[in-house]
Amino acid sequence: MAGRNFLFVPGPTNVPDRVLRAMVVSMEDHRSPKFPALTNEMMPGLKKVFRTEHGTPFIFPSSGTGCWEAAVTNTLSPGDRVLAARFGQFSHLWIDMCTRLGLDVQIVDCEWGTGVPLQQYADILKADTGHKIKAVLACHNETATGVTSDIAGVREALDEAKHPALLFVDCVSSLGSIDFRFDDWGVDMAVSGSQKGLMLPAGLGILCASQKALAMRESAQMKRAYFDLGDMMTSNATGYFPYTPALSLMYGLVESLKMIEEEGLDNIFARHHYLAEGVRAAAIKGWGLKLCAKEAKWYSDTVSAILVPEGKNGAEVIARAYRRYNVSLGAGL
Ligand SMILES: *Cc1c(COP(=O)(O)O)cnc(C)c1O
Repeated sequence: MAGRNFLFVPGPTNVPDRVLRAMVVSMEDHRSPKFPALTNEMMPGLKKVFRTEHGTPFIFPSSGTGCWEAAVTNTLSPGDRVLAARFGQFSHLWIDMCTRLGLDVQIVDCEWGTGVPLQQYADILKADTGHKIKAVLACHNETATGVTSDIAGVREALDEAKHPALLFVDCVSSLGSIDFRFDDWGVDMAVSGSQKGLMLPAGLGILCASQKALAMRESAQMKRAYFDLGDMMTSNATGYFPYTPALSLMYGLVESLKMIEEEGLDNIFARHHYLAEGVRAAAIKGWGLKLCAKEAKWYSDTVSAILVPEGKNGAEVIARAYRRYNVSLGAGL
């Protein structure tokens, strides 16, 4: 990485040279007879990254935020109740979007530095015998606080209550970097983006939908146009997209999926864990600092949010790291 800024913000992440080179392509006709070959190269790889056989992946020219909207508007109706926990900037923003789109959000506010409150979710779902809650939201890796939540536990809470609500998971900063299992965890909508674990520039919104979620499109009354999954499915079935796809990013995606396949997902997760252990050891044991994450069970292997000690200015730490060491650190959100 000589000659480059050392990029340690949660996203965009460093794009490997192989992926950078793969994106340097001349433009081509996205309605050509050859184009479907590219689509058919991306989709199977994406399914592997989501660890799904039955889910359907979608690629939008958008950032991850667009797929929050796609997940919600394709499955729900105005006024529907959704259950969501707020424990950081990203879980907050998804809740804010749901509210602005006209959903009735039942918010569980949690202390920042903790994650999805499984016991509370279980109690609320058990008490909801009329099944008013139509979807349960969970942010797998809350990037603002460096907290990873137990999504298998959310699935258990739903199953124990025999609750039919859909399970929506934000995996923007965990997909391809922290163990994520779409099928095993019974996820219905998994929302991600290109610029974190997938090692690409920003610009692709990546979504995976279960068959149960796709069936909800029939009854879902929320307005949707650009993010309509029906239009996408109709085009994708023949290998095309309903509007101009982000071609260069897609060539990059094919290459990054190859890299993921070569290293192996489990090896990638182990690598992130190993490096995160090193960062935590340096911060906690080495420098006597504290993480934002309250307990070891919440520690994220992709983002370590380190608290700046009382009396020090975080902005100065970041500015000095940048000027003196050419290191970009993320600011607190
Ligand atoms: C980065 C991030 C997002 C936002 O994604 P954009 O691509 O910036 O829209 C959402 N959720 C989490 C957890 C993130 O880390």
